[in-house]
Amino acid sequence: MLNLDPRTIYLLAGFMGGLMSVVLFFLRRSFPPTIKGLTEWTAAPAIMFVSILLLGARDAIPNFFSVVVANLALLAGLALLYFGSQRFLGRPRSVRLWSGLILAAAPVLVWYSQIEPHYGKRLLVVSFLIALLSASHARLLMRYGTRSFATYLTVASLLIQAGVQALRFVSAFDMPADGTLFTLSPAQTLLVTTYTFCLLMVTIGVVLMATDRLRTEFEHLASHDSLTGALTRRALLESCERELERCQRKSHVMSLLMMDLDHFKAINDSHGHLTGDRVLIDFVARVTELLRRPDRFGRFGGEEFVALLPETSLEEARIVAERIRADIASTSVQPWCTVSIGAATSSAADATVDALLARADEALYQAKAAGRNCVRTAA
Ligand code: GH3
Ligand code: MG
Ligand code: MG
Repeated sequence: MLNLDPRTIYLLAGFMGGLMSVVLFFLRRSFPPTIKGLTEWTAAPAIMFVSILLLGARDAIPNFFSVVVANLALLAGLALLYFGSQRFLGRPRSVRLWSGLILAAAPVLVWYSQIEPHYGKRLLVVSFLIALLSASHARLLMRYGTRSFATYLTVASLLIQAGVQALRFVSAFDMPADGTLFTLSPAQTLLVTTYTFCLLMVTIGVVLMATDRLRTEFEHLASHDSLTGALTRRALLESCERELERCQRKSHVMSLLMMDLDHFKAINDSHGHLTGDRVLIDFVARVTELLRRPDRFGRFGGEEFVALLPETSLEEARIVAERIRADIASTSVQPWCTVSIGAATSSAADATVDALLARADEALYQAKAAGRNCVRTAA
């Protein structure tokens, strides 16, 4: 591998980066606008592709383009990748800082290529900035990215890149003035190769991060009610099935709370449907706050909701239900609204979720019959 011509390595990786840019371009068009950062991620490998073409054309075109413009484009591409990740993760972009640093590098590169040519000095500036950019990018992803293969791949590639550039920075101190990118020692060739392929892995990593995010968004859309954000009936029933199975295996208990807002039709009739919607949204937000982490809360239909409480006895479920009822009744937000709740706990007789739900529904019916704004438990 050490005998490979560095120019060929550069161009090969550059072409692959260009292809990744095309892939990202088409991905971007089919991704929802909620996934941010794809524009920067698409532009970055395209700019780096141009940069690599310029670097590869060394000696065939004026130095100004193959050195100054090429290196600035490379830095700009890396910065864009970083900005893309910042937008993707909803973090503020550090455009000013990095544009400033890259612009400050421009006169140095012009000086050491046009006026007093010195490869080692140019390498010092470029490798330092790339190392810093890559390390900052890796740090951002570690702090705010999801714990997934895509993130780890990107972070690992960025860290290798930062390390390689740090080594190049150190080695640049005794670089001859007349060296070029293509007159490298075997060690330098290895570093350049590693670096070039890491860049490619970073672009693959961001594509994987974007598709991961897309999958998460679709899963969320499929399992959550679009108005209130509570689980959909299907998602909640699936959770109930899983939990009941677990309870039966381990001889544990679980409880269900079936809730129905009182006289909700009257709220719609007197305040309008939009206000009714707002009441539903507020109700879900308040109940969600009152539930514990392992609890599940779903919209069963209209103004009817079900909470699944794992590892909860009937008495504990009654206390939770009473807390919810009292909290909703105590709200001062208009229009005033109350809730009736029926609670049921799994027993040996409940072989199915439907049987358990039927008992919770029966208890809810009793709460309604008892005058509403109260809790009843199933025997
Ligand atoms: P009860 O105390 O017996 O439960 O009386 P209720 O008026 O709450 O019950 P009913 O079943 O008669 O009315 C439920 C109302 O909920 C009727 C329906 O228009 C309204 N509703 C269902 N889904 C939505 C929704 O998404 N938004 C709004 N604003 N209203 C909804
Ligand atoms: Mg109702
Ligand atoms: Mg109802």
